[in-house]
Amino acid sequence: MSKVIAIANQKGGVGKTTTSVNLAAGLANMGNKVLVIDADPQASLSICMGQQEPDKLEPTIVDIIEKLVNEEEIPDGYAIIKHSDNIDLLPSNIGLSAAEVSLVNVMSRELVLKGYIDSVKDNYDYVIIDCMPSLGVMTVNALACADTCLVPVQAAFLPVKGLQALIKTIYTVKRRLNPKLEIEGILLTMVDSRTNYAKDIIAEVNEVYGKSIPVFPIQIPVSVRATETSAMSKSIFEYDPKGKVAAAYSTLTEVVMKNS
Ligand code: ADP
Ligand code: MG
Repeated sequence: MSKVIAIANQKGGVGKTTTSVNLAAGLANMGNKVLVIDADPQASLSICMGQQEPDKLEPTIVDIIEKLVNEEEIPDGYAIIKHSDNIDLLPSNIGLSAAEVSLVNVMSRELVLKGYIDSVKDNYDYVIIDCMPSLGVMTVNALACADTCLVPVQAAFLPVKGLQALIKTIYTVKRRLNPKLEIEGILLTMVDSRTNYAKDIIAEVNEVYGKSIPVFPIQIPVSVRATETSAMSKSIFEYDPKGKVAAAYSTLTEVVMKNS
């Protein structure tokens, strides 16, 4: 049984890509086979996973969408890059913006990706989809084929305010397209636990959402080490294995594995 986790938040810079990379690495370290899908035209995930120039890369998820739209056969393993022993990557590039627009006139446009994901997911224990910062048709496609949605949110006032729109979209997708969709949890990221401000935000999120939606008991601390990993094409477990961010992502991995 495989589990598909969409990592989504319409706000950028909240830690979606960092969480995708490190949760994938954590799950892989525990012996799971993981497919990570870059569903953002900015291709940060592809870059973080060693693809220096994604815009020169072919094929990518863009070609998969093109084939799905044209109802063409997709060869086994098409566009998937072996990243490490247990991690495969389906990269993205800037062409995804145009590909997303091309979806708009397709019949059942919200379900285009689902057929593809259903056909590859059994090769993996986990499929992680790093969504783009919008609630557009690509993100809805990711939610429509996911078992759960993990919501990273930066521990600050405005990002937390923006959660409402995302949660509404998740429940709309659940009602109309994907009844099995659940929220894996809200994950507070870039937490500076020395400040009262961070403590207030954590308390507020638990108070406002905690009764109806799982809020992860672990938060990801803010650390310059985490920022550096993005440029190093390494996971936090390779770059700073003894640090607090590695410890947090390791605990997050355990919680996610227990949930499934
Ligand atoms: P998103 O995918 O939501 O846009 P990213 O994962 O790319 O967010 O993170 C945004 C920026 O914040 C990146 O530069 C990243 O390196 C940095 N970052 C992510 N997590 C942390 C953290 N725990 N501490 C410090 N910086 C972080
Ligand atoms: Mg990102």
